[in-house]
Amino acid sequence: MGRIVVITTGGTISARRRGTGYTASATGWEVLSRAAVPPGVSVELDDLCSLDGPLMTTAHQLTLLRRIHEILARPEVDGIVVTHGTDTLEESAFLSDLHHHDPRPVVFTGAMHPFDGNADDGPGNLHDAVLTASAVSGMGTLVVFDGKVFAARGTVKYHTVATDAFAAPDSGPIGEVRGETVSVHALPSRTAPLPPPPRTVPELPLRVDVVTHHADADPMLLRAAVAGGAQGVVLVGSGAGNATPAFVEAVAEATERGVLVALSTRVPAGPVAELATNGGAVDLVAAGAVPAGTLRAGQARTAVLSALLATAEAAERRRVLARALGLAPAPAPTS
Ligand code: ASP
Repeated sequence: MGRIVVITTGGTISARRRGTGYTASATGWEVLSRAAVPPGVSVELDDLCSLDGPLMTTAHQLTLLRRIHEILARPEVDGIVVTHGTDTLEESAFLSDLHHHDPRPVVFTGAMHPFDGNADDGPGNLHDAVLTASAVSGMGTLVVFDGKVFAARGTVKYHTVATDAFAAPDSGPIGEVRGETVSVHALPSRTAPLPPPPRTVPELPLRVDVVTHHADADPMLLRAAVAGGAQGVVLVGSGAGNATPAFVEAVAEATERGVLVALSTRVPAGPVAELATNGGAVDLVAAGAVPAGTLRAGQARTAVLSALLATAEAAERRRVLARALGLAPAPAPTS
């Protein structure tokens, strides 16, 4: 019989109406007891916390990551499911995946309809996640939602209200769940796992800000992030990762100060590509930004966070970030 530990953290899957809106409130036991347990599987509950997704912090995510590793240290456990608010699910799931070094799966899920609604999708998603956790191996951290199986890397919340809320714009789902059957048709593309973050993190919150380029954008916000103590910044460029010559200057200044800058894009699919100059990705990368491949802002930020947690040394941080992104080691900036 497969033994799956379900870690509950809050989110809409546990939300009840409180006054004017919904907020996480049902206990882990209440959430778990409404889901059908797949045949041949036994489930153990770990009621970790009760948070709305937007309230997740690095400290909560590190607590979750450590709990995952503690549970994986138990040989009798076959897999882990994490219920999580969908707003930041892709970030916590990717953090888990970046540090996942075990064949047994970690499967994240949640719900778009609240616990006390009359069309709740949570029990079905939880059943499918538990089934998947008991059925697959060697796939790192997954997201199971609305009958689809996704690799954590590259998966984003792409609809604000639909039950089919997650997508992997560059790779699509890698499998599906129908009834009591899980079919997986592709292996997730993963990078070599990073070691677990150190147990004592010197200063939290570790400031990693996200700044977006748009028409009229002013790099003042990027400079303000650095002045405010950011050790990392994700610059979300337009197109294939482009901005302006003024942003190139600000990226060079930030990099010179040892700030780790990742370059993502606000376009929903496709990689950052060094095609354009005059403030484009060619110049931003030359100024020190590390192109984030196909990772969107939330997961690019998570990769930067993992690199910052790994070491205090600027060149080593760039190396760890490149590894997390699946790139060749990021070269030192040329300007
Ligand atoms: N607001 C919710 C959250 O906790 C949304 C959800 O869980 O679906 O992220």
